[in-house]
Amino acid sequence: MGKKWSFSFAVLIFLLLACGRENAEEAESDESENITNQQTDSFTRAREQMVEEQIIRNGVKDEKVLAAMRKVPRHQFVPRREIPYAYEDRPLDIGHGQTISQPYMVAVMTELLQPNEKMKALEVGTGSGYQAAILAEIIKEVKTIEIIKELGDSAKERLKKMKYENIEVKVADGYYGWEEHAPFDIIIVTAAVDHIPPPLIEQLGPGGRLVIPVGNPFTVQDLVLAKKDEEGRVSTQHLFPVRFVPLTGRH
Ligand code: SAM
Repeated sequence: MGKKWSFSFAVLIFLLLACGRENAEEAESDESENITNQQTDSFTRAREQMVEEQIIRNGVKDEKVLAAMRKVPRHQFVPRREIPYAYEDRPLDIGHGQTISQPYMVAVMTELLQPNEKMKALEVGTGSGYQAAILAEIIKEVKTIEIIKELGDSAKERLKKMKYENIEVKVADGYYGWEEHAPFDIIIVTAAVDHIPPPLIEQLGPGGRLVIPVGNPFTVQDLVLAKKDEEGRVSTQHLFPVRFVPLTGRH
């Protein structure tokens, strides 16, 4: 077994043992409380390994994105039963039939937006709040919308506890955007839809960028990057195939 595999295996066993003591009630808990210092060190190492092996190795280069991915504790955004897998290269179940996206996908979508510290973003599909936290590490302000009340409320609570003062969460249908805060410098949609919602195009500011999975919401979609130029003209690029949960709502 290679050195890196042994390390991953050791971290997994440690976390399984650490998390295996919970009772059935705690297993449904949405928070990863009572983490010891030793566990915190393991998570930090697992996160470093995630960035090296899943994100840099797959071509993400933006140092701001890499720093955010190294910093934000993904294990605090997943249900307790998923904590041992928090730094694996895959989406995880967050309840209500929804997922927290694969770390690489979060990194690559964030990089495509070319975020900087002056920007305001809209995210559609808050889920756990992880993508919002990654953006909030880099940019000035994040507005995020979640359609499932329980997920929106728990993400709001979690982000508040984590002291993300530059994130605002709203429970609503994100298809229609968040008009009172428009225009946005960047917009990210983390659920699949068969067209780009016109209200999101309208709410994208001049020079803005939007990333969204477009295609059949029940099979595979294309990750699409839309850009609005200073005159308001919109161009789109289909980048690569992705698989997201559907954008629901009344559209
Ligand atoms: N970005 C999330 C994270 O970091 O955990 C993961 C998003 S998950 C793949 C997609 C989310 O979009 C789900 O939580 C789902 O409930 C939400 N969603 C689906 N349709 C929506 C809509 N019309 N408006 C807002 N949120 C929606």
